[in-house]
Amino acid sequence: MRIWLTIAGFLIALFTVSTIVMDKIYSKRLELDEMNLLYKCNECGKLHRKYQEEIQIRLDKNYPSYHRCPHCYKPASLYSGEEYPWMITNPEAPKLRLRDLRKIKKLIHDVEQYRKMDRSIEKFLYYYRILPAKEKSKKNQAEMDNRRL
Ligand SMILES: [Zn+2]
Repeated sequence: MRIWLTIAGFLIALFTVSTIVMDKIYSKRLELDEMNLLYKCNECGKLHRKYQEEIQIRLDKNYPSYHRCPHCYKPASLYSGEEYPWMITNPEAPKLRLRDLRKIKKLIHDVEQYRKMDRSIEKFLYYYRILPAKEKSKKNQAEMDNRRL
């Protein structure tokens, strides 16, 4: 009797662990598919992927918002046409693999950390008046322009 209980417990534990592992793999797959979503610019017709938007929105201050072309900043729509093999290795928008997803997520995390550090340093410099306040610098700039005229 005791051996059957041990076997049943082992099977239940095995089932639970395999379910958790399958869920993790499935969620990674979903995340990868979302990052690989393909968009086509309505203006220039170039293709780009969602992960490029994620990187661009963090690095480029001029990038307006999601669903915009990283090349010309015009609106882009989800590409629903046939996906050809060249699109997977297209140098402008290569398709991510699972191991690339980890690198991209680390890159995005690092960029966010650097931005936080930048903001923190900027606040420190404003606080100790090493950097002029933004409004004052605008006024100073206007005064300098008036002097030149
Ligand atoms: Zn474009």
